[in-house]
Amino acid sequence: MNFDTGAVLVLSGPSGAGKSSLIKKIEDKIGAYYFSISTTTRPIRKGETEGFEYHFVSQEEFKKDIEDEHFLEYAKVHGNYYGTSIKPVKKALQERKLVIFDIDVQGHTSIQSRLGDITTSVFITTPTLCELEKRLYSRATDEKEIIENRIKMAKREIQRVSEFDYLLINDDLDRAAKHLIRIAKAARMKIPTQVINDFVRKWEEDSISISC
Ligand code: 5GP
Repeated sequence: MNFDTGAVLVLSGPSGAGKSSLIKKIEDKIGAYYFSISTTTRPIRKGETEGFEYHFVSQEEFKKDIEDEHFLEYAKVHGNYYGTSIKPVKKALQERKLVIFDIDVQGHTSIQSRLGDITTSVFITTPTLCELEKRLYSRATDEKEIIENRIKMAKREIQRVSEFDYLLINDDLDRAAKHLIRIAKAARMKIPTQVINDFVRKWEEDSISISC
């Protein structure tokens, strides 16, 4: 039997753990999905495009969106605001897509409380802290102070790994991608509580009205 409902896959973990590379690697192997593009107040980085990595807005615009209740969740990360808009997520779920979020651990908590019954979560990280430091410095997209901040944040975030369904160590991109494909496929099999309750009710009713 195929219940065919939408599902959510939350990916969290330190910047530099390779979340974006992993998503790129698996995107044509996981069926219909929608990658949630967040809104942020952080300055646009070299090589980024408005509407591709993020919607880049001012603090005022972000606060207006909070007031207008446009966000499914939002959080302050590294001193900047990041938020997930409700509308496109709702639409994608109605279209029975797998909705993928790249959000921090605070965002994961919010998504669990609102969409927990259809959510699967993965914490993605490097094999060691040392490896993370190496990757962040070699990427050279951020100032030293920002990198140090990200490392501090990573040390805090790793303490909350047990809140996630899976821990994925990205030591080898091909191997990690294979694991993530399996997780994404399993995530699609999650059934919302409402659908389960309807099924159970119908399952019992049929045994009353039809002789077995
Ligand atoms: P970056 O500035 O490196 O792109 O992202 C910084 C952090 O913000 C990452 O850990 C990323 O997962 C998180 N992030 C991105 N978008 C959102 C969002 O919409 N909500 C939350 N809670 N975190 C986000």
